[in-house]
Amino acid sequence: MGLDRASDARGRGSGLEALDHRDQRIAQALRDQTEELATLESRDNGKPLRQARTDVQVAARYFEFFAGIADKIMGHTIPLGPGYLDFTIREPIGVSAHIVPWNYPIQIGARGVAPALAAGCAVVLKPSSEAPMTALRLGEIALACGLPPGILNVVPGTGSEAGVALASHPRINQLTFTGSVDVGIRVAQMAAQNVVPVVMELGGKSPNIVFADADLDLAAQGVATAIFQNAGQTCSAGSRLLVERKAHGALVDRLAARAKSMRVGPGVSDPDMGPIISKRQLETIEKYVQVGTSEGAHVAAGGARPADPSLGGGYYFQPTLLESVSAGMRVAQEEIFGPVLAIIDFDELEEAATIANRSDYGLVAGIWTRDINKAMALAARIKSGQIYINTYGAGGGVELPFGGYKKSGYGREKGLESLASYTQVKNVCIKY
Ligand code: NAD
Repeated sequence: MGLDRASDARGRGSGLEALDHRDQRIAQALRDQTEELATLESRDNGKPLRQARTDVQVAARYFEFFAGIADKIMGHTIPLGPGYLDFTIREPIGVSAHIVPWNYPIQIGARGVAPALAAGCAVVLKPSSEAPMTALRLGEIALACGLPPGILNVVPGTGSEAGVALASHPRINQLTFTGSVDVGIRVAQMAAQNVVPVVMELGGKSPNIVFADADLDLAAQGVATAIFQNAGQTCSAGSRLLVERKAHGALVDRLAARAKSMRVGPGVSDPDMGPIISKRQLETIEKYVQVGTSEGAHVAAGGARPADPSLGGGYYFQPTLLESVSAGMRVAQEEIFGPVLAIIDFDELEEAATIANRSDYGLVAGIWTRDINKAMALAARIKSGQIYINTYGAGGGVELPFGGYKKSGYGREKGLESLASYTQVKNVCIKY
């Protein structure tokens, strides 16, 4: 499992040793190997080459960003009055385990590994058995950049074997899990047996809320990218569109034109949208479209596998828009994890807030309007870890704290907030 090596090695990568900028070297190596890594990611996962290149760049940015903080992790002094000196030290938490999904393997791998290494932890990374290749390469690159053996351990395998072994291991000190709610609950239960703290990055059903006064061209572009990027297989996908009723026609026409013009094909041919990860996931998406239409939704674009015979038996699905959706329908409530947008109309701001919050999830929300007062009023009402106004996502968003409200999880990754998970605070009190 690499746990013994990780446990022995912990701390060796920390402190002043971290000052030799190994994280920076990893960032540079990732950038230098972008084409090779992007091709590997695209072949393994099916995502368009362009997206895979972006993922590698974002992974590099994680290492660069956290390399910059490795020598700035500091404590406080606490005033206790005359005769006392009290201060805190932030120590590495120890062996940090990372269980990651298949949808953004190198990006999500780097998102957890880089801050954990910067904090001085040893790391065990378990990629998904659906797409493990770039995580394995990341391990090799880290070694080549001078990270001592045992500091970053990559352990591929299935969830039921490698995942369970890692989550229930008594010698891990912290666990970051990114994946589905059901598996997350099981993982948290296993970790709890050993009193191991966890960060849970789970699913989403994120709303994009578009008012009639928005720049509709900009909104259509943002809404389409938010749902169709990575074929909708994104935790923060904007999978619900809440549109002010009087702008419905104008916005949906724009979205339908975009959806119908998208080229679907193998990732390495760099299409607008690649395949779905597996047959099972493709069938799940198909089932959801059937459920939606049986509940009264209307297909405004897509809704089926592409007819193009050259796509053969590939696991492709068309970019899909479902209109006439109401907030309680299953397609508006459950994470589909495919290129399917559920479109719900609203008339008033309060109604938009109620619908947005009528979800078990709370990962990301987008608001599109030219009225900043309206945007801020809505931002205050929405229960979500991130809110974007007139944009959605911020590149990789490496610098911004990211994480869920409600069943989207707890703890934060990205940004400086993530370091809290990989350090623990020791208080030292001196009487003199
Ligand atoms: P998943 O939950 O099936 O698997 C995630 C990881 O857990 C994989 O590495 C898998 O091998 C492992 N695993 C599976 N069963 C396990 C078990 N019993 N014990 C330990 N580990 C186990 O998720 P997935 O299908 O790979 O990814 C899709 C899900 O991930 C979606 O719900 C999506 O929203 C979520 N996700 C969340 C974020 C986020 O940052 N919030 C990012 C990406 C994906």
